Amino acid sequence: MAIADVPLADTLARPLRDLRISVTDRCQFRCTYCMPREVFGRDFVFLPREQLLTFEELTRLARLFAGLGVRKLRLTGGEPLLRRDLDKLVAMLAGIGGIGDIALTTNGALLAGKAQALAAAGLRRVTVSLDSLDDAVFMALNDAGFPVARVWRPSPRPPMRGWRR
Ligand code: SF4
Repeated sequence: MAIADVPLADTLARPLRDLRISVTDRCQFRCTYCMPREVFGRDFVFLPREQLLTFEELTRLARLFAGLGVRKLRLTGGEPLLRRDLDKLVAMLAGIGGIGDIALTTNGALLAGKAQALAAAGLRRVTVSLDSLDDAVFMALNDAGFPVARVWRPSPRPPMRGWRR
């Protein structure tokens, strides 16, 4: 059976509209429930770069899924903002006919420096995973000495034109 003949639906025949794309297996945090340092220590071997799908390959896959009815894409990792030039991938995905929404799930550590370029490329939504507003709890969980203030600061204004909280 060709892929175009396979209905993209779950077991209750509901259409599958969302596709999550993992762009890297790496992360700079070592959240105790996800990448505990005892397992993901200095010696842990992540995927070599040549085994990651290229932006062109990811775009080709997304286009195929769009042809099967996918309408929303979400970029994840690991930590997706560790993938260099992610805004270029967003721009490539934004050019796919039928894709109406591109979102990102991030730990937020690198977001401030990349948000402008990502928004300009076509990113529409961001989910920031922040486990606690308490510094001690947050740092204990991320196990990377990363304080809350480097991820989230209360602000009266939306972070970027076109984005809403
Ligand atoms: S930030 Fe996310 S991907 Fe990274 S270790 Fe924590 S839960 Fe896992």
